Amino acid sequence: MSVIDSALVQIRQLHPYSPGKPVEELERELGITNAIKLASNENPLGCSPLVGEVLARAGEHIELYPDANAYYLKQRLAQKLGVGENQITVGNGSNDVLDLVARSFLDGNAEAIFSQYAFMVYAMVTQACGARARVAAANGIDSQQPYGHDLQAMLAMVNDKTRLVFIANPNNPTGNWLLQDELQSFLDALPAHIAVVIDEAYFEYVDLDQYPNSMNWLERYPNLIVTRTFSKIYGLAGLRIGYAVSSPELCDLFNRVRQPFNGNSMALAAAKAALDDEDFVQRSRQTNHQGLLKLKQGCDERKLYSIPSAGNFLTVEFGERSSAIYQGLLERGVIVRPVANYDLPRFLRISVGTPAQIEQFFSALDALL
Ligand SMILES: *Cc1c(COP(=O)(O)O)cnc(C)c1O
Repeated sequence: MSVIDSALVQIRQLHPYSPGKPVEELERELGITNAIKLASNENPLGCSPLVGEVLARAGEHIELYPDANAYYLKQRLAQKLGVGENQITVGNGSNDVLDLVARSFLDGNAEAIFSQYAFMVYAMVTQACGARARVAAANGIDSQQPYGHDLQAMLAMVNDKTRLVFIANPNNPTGNWLLQDELQSFLDALPAHIAVVIDEAYFEYVDLDQYPNSMNWLERYPNLIVTRTFSKIYGLAGLRIGYAVSSPELCDLFNRVRQPFNGNSMALAAAKAALDDEDFVQRSRQTNHQGLLKLKQGCDERKLYSIPSAGNFLTVEFGERSSAIYQGLLERGVIVRPVANYDLPRFLRISVGTPAQIEQFFSALDALL
């Protein structure tokens, strides 16, 4: 027996997360310089200029440990969100927070429920805890939200082992969303001792009637945990910072599980500064809306089906050709994201870029179609 056999079986059976290919890597491989990455739902406008200024200052004292309690960031977030500072858990990206939640609720006897095609990290953190994943079949293709969460199917999986439910709104990699009434009915029907995460990584991008701000429900549902991130609209993916908002009691639990310095000093300073630049967020939202529309229309014109999306990406059906299209795009310096690992082998996920990037994508695509 080797030391590897001593490792927990659920860990040995984990599949590592497969990230989007870095631009530099592709440029190195092809010997080109103008590659673009539309593979990780990053903000094509970068981040607020206010961030650069505070990073220079924060960099002067990296010999010091960061503020383990993220005091200033929590203060600013609390003010902005209208919640208490004692309701906020800061993480090294919201993935870290999802992991904290899983570790707080799941063990070998527990079950977690999430939807087919839901964000991969739910499955990973569930398995890492040795818990059983109950995956609810997604909506059918005739639904208003094809491939989206079927909340009734999720509810039907609740049993006495259920400890945690993950919901992404909007979901990645599909882009589907849930509206206020259906989500609230779900929360009403879910037994109050079962924790429920509503992952709102793309919240700031959504501009739809009846799209809920689930932060408003925290008092009504003490089992609710809302997660958000600075990686997407705020453009700070490289710094790794996100957060959860919950009841103070849940927050207290997460802060016991949390590594003391999981938010580094550069990230804390940058996130706080990013919250001050509403203009940048507004501009990002606008660029995304126009870009998403353009991407969708371009796909429609080429008779390519795309899943309805409220995020900053579009998941497009290329059928049998999808791996060949992925490779062909790579060779033309355009990185998109295969989603075969989500059991969507006929699709590719394309992040919304700048107008120029979207054009570059379509001209590369047209050379292949
Ligand atoms: C991108 C994303 C996140 C955010 O991850 P970070 O760790 O904050 O970078 C969380 N949930 C979903 C559904 C996402 O797509």
